[in-house]
Formats: sequence, structure tokens, C-alpha cells
Amino acid sequence: MQPAASISPHVVTWELTRACALHCRHCRAKAVRQRDRLELSLTEMGPVLDDLASYDGPPVLVFTGGDPLEREDLPEILEAAAIRELRTAMAPSVTPRLTLDVLKTWRDLKVGSVALSLDGATPKSHDGFRQSPGTFIKTMEMARAVVSQGMRLQVNTSVGTYTKEELPAIGRLVKALGVSSWEIFVVVPTGRAGLGEALTAPQIEDILRWIAEYSQTVAFRVTVVGAPQYRRVLDGTSPTSRRPPLREGRGFAFIDHQGFVYPSGYLPLKAGNVRRLGFQAIYREAPLMADLRDASLLKGPCGRCAWTLLCGGSRARAYAVTQDVFASDPGCLYAVEGVQ
Ligand code: SF4
Repeated sequence: MQPAASISPHVVTWELTRACALHCRHCRAKAVRQRDRLELSLTEMGPVLDDLASYDGPPVLVFTGGDPLEREDLPEILEAAAIRELRTAMAPSVTPRLTLDVLKTWRDLKVGSVALSLDGATPKSHDGFRQSPGTFIKTMEMARAVVSQGMRLQVNTSVGTYTKEELPAIGRLVKALGVSSWEIFVVVPTGRAGLGEALTAPQIEDILRWIAEYSQTVAFRVTVVGAPQYRRVLDGTSPTSRRPPLREGRGFAFIDHQGFVYPSGYLPLKAGNVRRLGFQAIYREAPLMADLRDASLLKGPCGRCAWTLLCGGSRARAYAVTQDVFASDPGCLYAVEGVQ
């Protein structure tokens, strides 16, 4: 068990707003067209940024939405983070609001990387998924612009029933874009994604094996979200990894537009609110966060598995499917077939 004072996140994703002009099939945020009048204001964000900056080794802040560009005070928010020397990344929606000038502003405000979503290898599939024509072409254009401005480019891809067949073709596109990383989200049936869009455990296993092979052929980082059993797939027959991936409440946290803190954006269980309590206190002491760091609470195969400490299963998927956050991950082949 880590001493309480040393418990800190490596990445905090911050949903600045839930407003967005797109209407994507798998939207975690169930984004809406209008901004919420209860969004955290820039003034309210200041003490939270102070709190995050006071960590001994502050986390990377990923600003997301909705679409963070729906906030007209976004440059001031980025400036407030830069003044505190926080490392920042942006995850905007690709809409007409995203332009070369915007990217230049972000570069000047010390944004280190920009994540763009790519959920199809062609205009037809990507725009169909995003439910917005022209998004594929614009995504390609903005991806090249991010690289040309000297920021790191991350491509995010959701893999579910709609996208799994195109993953190899998307992988070829990603290689050609000059990315620094490719983050693959294995769909968790939450937000706008239903159970019909989630993959079965054998399908996830096949995808993870493909990702493991693909990652050997590229120089950039390939990461997986929503399927921590990727660690098991990489390890082979017995655990050899030394570090577990970031997981819900274990190196990762999410702040929503109203200031509620969650273990992840895909796990709709609130741990507290930064309007009432400091982020550090919530992350370290909220019972939900503490329980998620306690592997002895895991049930079923996830609790008995050789990879319990390195993996532990997706708590978000366990909760989405069973409403029990400590249940076994129904998306893992070991968990559903008892292979171990
Ligand atoms: S059974 Fe659970 S802990 Fe084991 S590899 Fe699968 S998801 Fe991970």
C-alpha cells in the first residue's frame, strides 16, 4: 500500500464544457449543443490549478469537452495553467472553430500536445461516426498542422462494433500522419455508447493481439484505454510487467464541467467536487478512490487472477455492465472463460 501523501495522479482529464457542435456515436460526455450555466468559471478553476501545481510532480492536464473551443475563455484557462508551469494537452473537437490560428495560440501558450479523434479510415466511415460531413478531411488537415506547429500529435480511436474492421486501415493512416502516440479506446458501454456497440471478450482479445503486433512495427507510443488486460496480452504466459497502466483512480482522474471528480470519464461515480474540497484531498481520501486502489476488493476472476495487481480489469466496464464497480471485467477473456 502506498503512503497516503505519495498518492498522486499522472494524468488529469478536465472536461471544460459539455457543449459541442458534433454528435458522435460513442460520445462519453453525451455532449449537447448549449453550454451549462453551472460550468466551473475561470475564477473557480484558479484554486484547483494551484492545488494541481502543488503536487510534487504535477500531473499532465488534458483539457477536453464536449469541445473545449466552445469556451471563449479557453486562452485565459491555458494561460492560467502555463503560469503555474502545468503541462497541458488539448483534446478539441474538429469543427470550424479549430483553425491554424487556434493551434498557433495553443503553441504559444505552451500546450505540449493535441489529441484528435479518428474513428474511420475514410470520409464515409469517419464522418458517419461523427455524424458530421467534412470532418475527416478537416481532421487530416489539422493533424498535419499540429505537427507543423511543433506540438505532439496524438490520434484517439474508439474501437467498437462500428470501427473494429477498419482498425488496420486506420493504423496505416496513423503511421503516415507523423503522430507521437496513438491511443485506442476500447468502447465501454457508457455515455452515448450502448451495449450493442461494445465488443465481446473474444473480439477484444483479438483486437489487443493485433495492437500488440502493430505496436512492434512503429516508433511511436501505442496505448490502450478501457482494456487494462492489454498488459496480460503483452506479458504472455505470466506477469512480467513492472508498472501497471494508468487506471481509474490509480494514476488517473477526471474532473467534469461542474467540478465533480471521477475516477475516470467512463465511470460515472462521483468522488467529490472541487467546489467544496481540494482536488488532492478528493483524489487521496475519497472512499471511492481509496477502494479502487485496494485490489483485495475485486471479485470473481479479476480478484483471483495472476494479473490482478497489474491489470485489475476495467472498473468502468464492470460497472457499466453489472452496476458493481468491483465485479470482474466482462470484457476480458480470462474473466469470462476462466482461462487462467
Ligand atoms: S481476469 Fe481481470 S485481472 Fe485478469 S487479466 Fe482479465 S481483466 Fe485483468
